[in-house]
Formats: sequence, structure tokens, C-alpha cells
Amino acid sequence: MKICVMPGDGIGPEIVAQGLKVLEVVGEKFGHKFEVEEALIGGVAIDEKGVPLPDETVKACKSADAVLLGAVGGPKWDNIDPAIRPERGLLGIRKELALFANLRPAALFPQLKDACFLRPDIVEKGIDVMVVRELTGGIYFGEPKGEGEENGERYGYNTMIYRESEIRRIAKIAFEAARKRNKRLCSVDKANVLDVSRVWREIVIEVSKDYPDVELNHMYVDNAAMQLVRDPSQFDVIVTGNLFGDILSDEAAVITGSIGMLPSASVGASNPGLFEPIHGSAPDIAGEDKANPLATILSIAMMLRYSFDLDKEASYIESAVEKTLSAGLRTGDIMDEGGNLVGCKAMGEAVIKNL
Ligand code: NAD
Repeated sequence: MKICVMPGDGIGPEIVAQGLKVLEVVGEKFGHKFEVEEALIGGVAIDEKGVPLPDETVKACKSADAVLLGAVGGPKWDNIDPAIRPERGLLGIRKELALFANLRPAALFPQLKDACFLRPDIVEKGIDVMVVRELTGGIYFGEPKGEGEENGERYGYNTMIYRESEIRRIAKIAFEAARKRNKRLCSVDKANVLDVSRVWREIVIEVSKDYPDVELNHMYVDNAAMQLVRDPSQFDVIVTGNLFGDILSDEAAVITGSIGMLPSASVGASNPGLFEPIHGSAPDIAGEDKANPLATILSIAMMLRYSFDLDKEASYIESAVEKTLSAGLRTGDIMDEGGNLVGCKAMGEAVIKNL
């Protein structure tokens, strides 16, 4: 299994190094061979090659079976030409790999329940939601769009459009993800107001015929936003369009209270999937061995599960993370009363010990 690894900037190299050690040990334990090739992206690529996404990086990603990314960006590159900012590298590689689905699990480890923003009686029921967001269509890309002026008044407009093929393929990804979890899928739309949502709903229902083992329900987006904070335990997998998914995936993430814990995956039809922590390059703690590597380690678990169908191996990593948290080990971002403060390296080593 060939993996292209892009550590990127800031804490990227530190957290990726811990992730790769975990991957190596999993490979040894289960008899898998993971071939790792490193490539440049973001600020470090600008420094070395003058662009945030060099051609050789795109080539390396396309010839891999999966891609692992640390994080990009930092103050050093904040004032350069917007056309070659580090973040452009990220958008560029998502586009090159035609990644149309973003999978963002937001799970609250019981060991970290004090970090959660919700009331203890709500937290008690558990939070383990996966938001599957359509990434390349909808109102962010729909045409026509623009700005204008009429009768002395300015206006702006965008088009929310989804084609059947776009809905079908994202629905399939979501049903497959639900199959790997608790087999419940909630499709979120605004079908009471939007025509595009009515088509969305119709097609999701059609796709559901191929997944009789997955329970499907529908929810309007305003209600979904409320239900996520009122009772997140009711959700397993949520599938939704680009705009609603942008908002709901952040909402689901923030209620867990720990950005350093959350992994993500972006997948397409045939190209390799891209796996990355949801946090940024944390320049404020870069190089200080303070970063939490668990989001990256959990991103590797997602890679094993979704790109390589190695469910058992993924679960081993997730259990090792849980054990490490149960033992009280904490990086600064998740530190709580009675926790044992450790650095990035020590956290990675503890996960390996618990594998
Ligand atoms: P950030 O996620 O980098 O940091 C926000 C806060 O969370 C900081 O206090 C940071 O120290 C902390 N934090 C983040 N990850 C952590 C971890 N693993 N362990 C411990 N603490 C952690 O967001 P920001 O400060 O808004 O952005 C910093 C840079 O990252 C910017 O250049 C931004 O453009 C970039 N960024 C990149 C990505 C990405 O690569 N996917 C995502 C978001 C932001």
C-alpha cells in the first residue's frame, strides 16, 4: 500500500511523524507493507519550489493509494501573493484528486467529556456523529453567480444546483459509511423551501433501495442544527450538501471541545483519498513538542478503514487512543484536572505502547 505523505507546515511535521510511527507498528503487527513517499505542500513548498503545490507533489499523490496531510500555512506566508498562499495547495490537491466527499467524524471520547460544551446529561448519552459533506458542488460552485447593480441598488447572487449524478455519488458514500458504523443515515436538506433539496431527497430515497440494511431518515437543516446540540446521540451518519455540511460539520466538531482530536477524510470516485486532521498548523506551538498528534493518528485509522478496508487495524488504533486517554495522558489542548501533561512525542509513544 503506497501512501503519499505531506507533513506541511507548523506542527504538521511533528504530528505526522507520530502518525507514521503508529502506522509502521500496525504494519509490523498485522503483516502489511506500507510504502511511504514524502511530498511538499503549503509554505514549505513555496520556500523550496516557489509554489504551494508543485507538479511533482500532484504526481506523487496521484500515483499513491492514499494521501496523508499534516497542515499548511503560517504567519511567514500571510502576506504573500494570494494566488500562491499555502492554503491554495490544499484546495489545489483536493481539486486535482477530484475529492467530492468530505467525511468528518465528531466523536467525544468519554475520557474527555469535561471538554464538551454540552450539559452533562446530554453528554452522558454519547456523541459519535459522522458528517458526510458534498464538497465540489452546490451553491459554492453553482452558475450563474455574481454581483450587479439595478436601479441604483447593489445585489449579489449564487445558484444552488445539484445534479442527479452528484447526489447519487455522495449518497452512496454516505450509505457505505453508515454500513461501516451503526447503519443509520440522516439526510439533511431544506426540502420544505428549496427545489434543489426536493430533488436531493428524491434521489437519496432512490439510492436507499440498494441499502436496505441502513435506516434512512430526513431532517430539515434548521432542525438538524438544533438537534445536534439538543441530542447529538440520535445521529450516526449525516449526509448533506456543501453549504449545510460546511456549517453542520463545524458545529458537530466544536461541541466535542477538542480540535486536536478530530480526523477527517476526503474521498472521490477512483483517485486516492486524502486524510488529515481538521485543525490547522498551530504556529503558536510549532516546534515545541506540544501538539496533540491524536487527530493525525485517528486520520490514519480512517485511512486504513476507508482506503484499504482494514477495519480491524483501524479499530486497534482507535482502542489504543482510548486506552492512552484512559491512562490520563493529555497534551496541553485537552489537559484537565488530574491529567498527566505530556508532549507530542510522548503521546505518540504511549499510543504505540497501547496498540
Ligand atoms: P489552528 O487550528 O492552527 O489553531 C487554532 C488553535 O488550536 C491554536 O491555539 C492552536 O495552538 C490549537 N491547536 C490546533 N491544533 C492543535 C493540536 N493538534 N494540538 C494542540 N493544539 C492545537 O487554526 P488557526 O490558528 O486559525 O490557523 C493557523 C494556520 O493554519 C493558518 O495559517 C491557517 O490558514 C492554517 N490552517 C490550515 C488548515 C489545514 O491545513 N487544513 C486548517 C485550518 C487552518
